[in-house]
Amino acid sequence: MALIVQKYGGTSVATPEHIGRVAEKVIATRGAGCDVVVVVSAMSGETNRLLALAHAITDRPDPRELDVILATGEQVTIALLSMALQARGCPAHSYTGAQVHILTDSMHNKARIMDIDAARIQHDLAAGRVVVVAGFQGVDEQGNITTLGRGGSDTTAVALAAALKADECQIYTDVDGVYTTDPRVVPEARRLARLTYEEMLEMASLGAKVLQIRSVEFASKYNVPLRVLSSFEEGAGTLITAEEEGMEQAQISGIAFNRDEAKLTVLGVPDQPGVASRILGPIADAGIEVDMIVQNVAEDATTDFTFTVHRRDYTQALAILQDVARELQAREVSGDDRIVKISLVGVGMRSHAGIASRMFRALAEEGINIRMISTSEIKVSVVVDEKYLELGVRALHDAFELGRSGGQPEGE
Ligand code: ASP
Ligand code: MG
Repeated sequence: MALIVQKYGGTSVATPEHIGRVAEKVIATRGAGCDVVVVVSAMSGETNRLLALAHAITDRPDPRELDVILATGEQVTIALLSMALQARGCPAHSYTGAQVHILTDSMHNKARIMDIDAARIQHDLAAGRVVVVAGFQGVDEQGNITTLGRGGSDTTAVALAAALKADECQIYTDVDGVYTTDPRVVPEARRLARLTYEEMLEMASLGAKVLQIRSVEFASKYNVPLRVLSSFEEGAGTLITAEEEGMEQAQISGIAFNRDEAKLTVLGVPDQPGVASRILGPIADAGIEVDMIVQNVAEDATTDFTFTVHRRDYTQALAILQDVARELQAREVSGDDRIVKISLVGVGMRSHAGIASRMFRALAEEGINIRMISTSEIKVSVVVDEKYLELGVRALHDAFELGRSGGQPEGE
């Protein structure tokens, strides 16, 4: 019999009525001949409420105690869903993370799953029960309750699907899939029927916040087919899998963007070994993450060095660079925190030439100046002024025909 792991997010279990509807969906899946394991989040807003309670006691709650309170949100929804299933004549058991031995490391508030004991769940399934497991939580080797970081229920679901060798992990949420780009920016944006793990990782890290990134990494590592779909509307959603041989690939799957970027440049640095590490070393030591890095070819004995950081780190990075520049006897430091990054993503790029030039032409036609460019095997990113974000994304969506009429064919 097929085994499906379904995960329902906070908005899908927001009220007792919502939980009733989830129960109906689970029962329908069983009716189609599948065993079902369900992972649920806390009711929407609940995790924030619990966080606020902790912060009302102290500014800096102890991470261990914080996990004890945060884990209660999901404990409520597993019991309610289990009751809702039973009330409809469907046998069900609920379990906290600890009860099914979701073993994690001891990094409170951002723990990583190391192992899951599938035996207890399998026993329940064999007895004809639906198993309802609390998302977002686990237990460490010392028996302390841990949580997996915000959005961590997605990762619980994928980890369970991997441990149980489920046929599919379905993530039910308040959107009906992954889109070619953000429909708030491009109303013609289209739901993608399929996407590869690699593409999803690029889309997610670039701002398409549909799934916790770690859940996609996990799914990719264990090759768990992942489907994102809506709790509120019918539809096949978006299926995320490994790249399949012979699969007809659209050249471009989507356009991701990130508004929270800033760039910094050290001008006129001596062109010598060790310079890049002397510039980026102190940045890394300050815990600042660097994204794009560009160093010019040196014309004279000096060169320019530019990189991007998250906008919240801009002021700190600028201060650090000013010190570094003095030490290196660089000419000047400049920066801009009004920039954004736009990226074209698609595994089809590997086999199609001319994507980048088509992208640059589309931006040029709109008079958009490109400030930085970087490429990888399945992505081309540009940095442009913040004011061009919407225009740029729309122009590219059109140029690559990602709207309803063109691009990737619908269906599976
Ligand atoms: N309830 C947790 C959160 O709000 C985990 C989750 O929903 O995935 O972040
Ligand atoms: Mg979520």
